[in-house]
Amino acid sequence: MRSRTDKAVGCLFGTTATMCRVHADDQVGDGVPADLAALLREVDDRPVRISASACGDCGGRTFFVHFDEVEGGVRRDCGACGGRAFIADSAEYWEEAEPCVAECPCGCDEFEVAVAFSLTGDGSVRWVTVGLRCQQDGTVAVCADWKISYGPTDHLLTMT
Ligand SMILES: [Zn+2]
Ligand SMILES: [Zn+2]
Repeated sequence: MRSRTDKAVGCLFGTTATMCRVHADDQVGDGVPADLAALLREVDDRPVRISASACGDCGGRTFFVHFDEVEGGVRRDCGACGGRAFIADSAEYWEEAEPCVAECPCGCDEFEVAVAFSLTGDGSVRWVTVGLRCQQDGTVAVCADWKISYGPTDHLLTMT
């Protein structure tokens, strides 16, 4: 049986939006900067799985980022070797996209990238959210997010 004190503590947590949204089941992969992980953990009430982007060609971790926040889609170009890749299913919608180049207010356009996948109870991806961390001053921001309304979605989890 719960005491009154236990209930009072529960209420305190319930009044803080951030506390509500950060989910105990969140999974944060290696190489995700802590401040970027903190930002991405707040994006959804569902548990999120967060992975850092790494270049498939050279392993580089900083990118020039092209994004379309209307259609939802992100392409990243490796800052070291120029290798291009699309995040999750962005390639399928890129023809309709009108991408912009991401630029921090400080003028820097090279970022570390991390992707948050919001997961349903059975582990399917429902939302993709892409976050950036400026290489110059460490500013973090979400550049695009979009819904995934099909399945299966397991292949998306490796496309970061
Ligand atoms: Zn590279
Ligand atoms: Zn910056």
